Amino acid sequence: MSFHVCTFRLLPAWGALVLALAGCNAPHGSVPILAWHSIGAGDDKFSVTSATFSAQLDALAQAGFTPLTLRDVVSAQDAHATLPARPVVLTFDDGLEDAYTTALPALQAHKMRGTFFIVSKFVAADAAHRTVAHDKVALRRYLTVDELRALAAAGMEIGSHTQRHPRMPDLDAESARQELSGSKADLEALIGAPVTTFAYPFNSVRPFLPPLVAAAGYRAAVAGMVHGNDSRMQLFRMTVEKVDAPGMMKQLCTTWPASCAQ
Ligand SMILES: [Zn+2]
Repeated sequence: MSFHVCTFRLLPAWGALVLALAGCNAPHGSVPILAWHSIGAGDDKFSVTSATFSAQLDALAQAGFTPLTLRDVVSAQDAHATLPARPVVLTFDDGLEDAYTTALPALQAHKMRGTFFIVSKFVAADAAHRTVAHDKVALRRYLTVDELRALAAAGMEIGSHTQRHPRMPDLDAESARQELSGSKADLEALIGAPVTTFAYPFNSVRPFLPPLVAAAGYRAAVAGMVHGNDSRMQLFRMTVEKVDAPGMMKQLCTTWPASCAQ
């Protein structure tokens, strides 16, 4: 099998059209989706320093990858449009302050766009009321409304990551519906634009959830390396932990070999 003849095709699945690579080994969906949390100096495994993040973006550019938002990928798929060569989706979870202070400038310097999944009730009215919380691994500072709007104004996609970051499999259906529709409404009111993509907190999914995500009006949702697959409401994505640029590229190319084939 040659990777030179890989072509995109659309397949009906789960009542929606999904993009697949014909003739390619694409076990985790055709478009690589990467996930970061904090771009900063934290010493937990989910924090990547600003210098490392910039080097990772350099490496993606040098390998010929074109970052798209998840919304762009979904729209292209639904329109049967051709995606650019080597598409990749860069995602950022939680809506931390460093999404604005560090990730945004780095993306802009590389002329790249990303998708930011925001916990809507953690967004503060202003800096004086910024949400600061100590989770299991680090002190987390979250975005203000102005910072969130600046991300959106810079062309970044704003997606939902629930209202309060619960582990959704622990919720009953009604509470899950509230987290899904409530966060969508919260964020749409804050940025004045549709919010159409969703990320499961802790990348944790159970079978009752994807239909609820679709019913709430989302067009796509991302999970992780354990629960993710090729379906539109539970897409596989790779978490970028504390690893340098070559390490990230190696992980990406191991996970999606067709994307890195010459
Ligand atoms: Zn999260």
